[in-house]
Amino acid sequence: MSADACPHILAIETVKHAKKRECEACVKIGARWVHLRTCQTCGVTLCCDSSPNRHASKHARESGHPVVASAEPGEQWLYCFPDDAFAEY
Ligand SMILES: [Zn+2]
Ligand SMILES: [Zn+2]
Ligand SMILES: [Zn+2]
Repeated sequence: MSADACPHILAIETVKHAKKRECEACVKIGARWVHLRTCQTCGVTLCCDSSPNRHASKHARESGHPVVASAEPGEQWLYCFPDDAFAEY
């Protein structure tokens, strides 16, 4: 873990991975996404802030689930929305 990690990131012992490589919320409304993020509190996979609907950051705000992991192949990092903290694992 990098020194930039916040307490939310440091509390994660096992990183949750995407069950399916799709944004659950975009699939429901027939929208497209750019990148995928997996919520580390509930395991839902949603789209990133470069995607039109920004479902991951919306989920973080509405649910209070702070940390997501990248669900992109080859990427191993965590991001905390409230702290704007980033860590590779
Ligand atoms: Zn945090
Ligand atoms: Zn989405
Ligand atoms: Zn969540």
